[in-house]
Amino acid sequence: MSKQFEVAVVGAGPAGYHAAIRAAQLGLKTVCIDRWVDASGQAVLGGTCLNVGCIPSKALLDTSHKFSQAQSEFEDLGIMTQGLALDVAQMQRHKDLIVQNLTKGVAGLLKSNGVEVVTGTATLQAGKILQVTDAADQVSTVAAEHIILAPGSSPVDIPACARDDKMIVDSTGALAFDTVPKTLGVIGAGVIGLELGSVWSRLGAKVVLLEAVPTFLPTADKQVSKEALKLFKKQGLDIRLGAKVTGSKIKKSGVEVTYEDGDGTQKLTVDRLIVAVGRQAETKDLIASDAGVVVDDRGLIEVNEVCETTCVGVYAVGDAVRGAMLAHKGMEEGVMVAERIAGGKPQVNYETVPWVIYTHPEIAWVGATEAELSAAETAFKVGVFPLAASGRAMASNETAGLIKVIADAATDRVLGVHMIGAHCSELIAEAVIAMEFGASAEDLGLTMFAHPTLSEGLHEAALAVSGHAIHIAHRKRR
Ligand code: FAD
Repeated sequence: MSKQFEVAVVGAGPAGYHAAIRAAQLGLKTVCIDRWVDASGQAVLGGTCLNVGCIPSKALLDTSHKFSQAQSEFEDLGIMTQGLALDVAQMQRHKDLIVQNLTKGVAGLLKSNGVEVVTGTATLQAGKILQVTDAADQVSTVAAEHIILAPGSSPVDIPACARDDKMIVDSTGALAFDTVPKTLGVIGAGVIGLELGSVWSRLGAKVVLLEAVPTFLPTADKQVSKEALKLFKKQGLDIRLGAKVTGSKIKKSGVEVTYEDGDGTQKLTVDRLIVAVGRQAETKDLIASDAGVVVDDRGLIEVNEVCETTCVGVYAVGDAVRGAMLAHKGMEEGVMVAERIAGGKPQVNYETVPWVIYTHPEIAWVGATEAELSAAETAFKVGVFPLAASGRAMASNETAGLIKVIADAATDRVLGVHMIGAHCSELIAEAVIAMEFGASAEDLGLTMFAHPTLSEGLHEAALAVSGHAIHIAHRKRR
């Protein structure tokens, strides 16, 4: 006999656990099924984000940033750091502790909201039945009126660089190095490659990033990506664009990587190699062929704008569906679906998904780039504020970067905000709120910002759209 629920969620990553908690808050009898277990076989919730994604990477980014600042910037401020040393084991223990606290926290939240948690691998059968296989190969079934699939994603492997999980690793392996490699190769200069490359570079590794695409960060604003490339190169990251990796060999001396670039075939030998070429939806064996749910040729579950699949009563959210593979996008989808099941009509505004790259300086943006607007033949105006002109940035010795506001030429409505600089992961929220509320650049200009803050940079960039920024020189109007 199947256990019967009103809502069954597959996956306890950010998309799934948000959906389950909101469904339970709305009074629906809810179960959340996840197969993630630790080395001792204990169930661990939180998915990629908490275990091997957002949180552990940010723990290592923050620690390595503090170390690098102490090493190269503190003396300028009069802070002497003789005897500074790094304890990689302690750094990793700190990261693991945060992960443990947060994953236990998710288990606690599910429990306190009355969500039943089942550990095992779920497959969707016809008739909205989930077959769940546990670690001992025991099979049980769960039936639900509404099923939310949130199986997430996993790193893409490439045949040219088969992982051995020691010398050639994916992002998960790169979060767990127990020593700092002297030399490190990273295949892929996207978000994950840049973040992980930065961590180990700051701790002393000589890092080479091999990126097949000839353009650096092609989806970011051009001015921002140009500034980022300049700053990252200055930090010592060796970023080689248009470098297509064709093979690798594990040797005693390290990993020998072969790649093709404009000058022909090149070889590079590194102590360790991270493959960070993207992620794929984790949908293999998830859905029986007669379940009525269509999966596209990239493995993404087909959904409409409110995350309904092709089978009535089955929804899919998070990394396993179209759109950004970002935790917050999945969280919002999870909550939206739970609320729609309970009779509400919310929608996710995909126009205001914030993007962040947690390098130093950080890169963040929301909305359209100048290139996208030009391609769509939308007339726009731009205001840019360099952080070098910000008093607060100077006071904190963090003057690299800029904030750009793009507004519609006719209506002045903010269409995009792009930034590179310290704390941009936090600053971008102000731009998201402005765009969510349909603000114009003038609205932002008329808003009072605390002084001295980095946020004033957004204020000034908005004022610059109409040539009214106070702290940058505009050509005098007659
Ligand atoms: P996941 O978090 O992948 O969770 C899916 C869950 O489903 C897993 O727990 C899995 O065990 C379970 N599951 C899968 N199939 C089954 C099945 N058949 N039966 C039972 N359970 C199943 N995003 C950000 O927004 N900000 C960041 O800073 C950021 N940093 C990242 C850094 C790294 C190194 C990586 C790898 C990713 C990062 N991401 C970041 C991406 C983010 O982790 C994902 O977008 C997010 O985790 C997706 O959430 P999800 O719930 O869709 O899937």
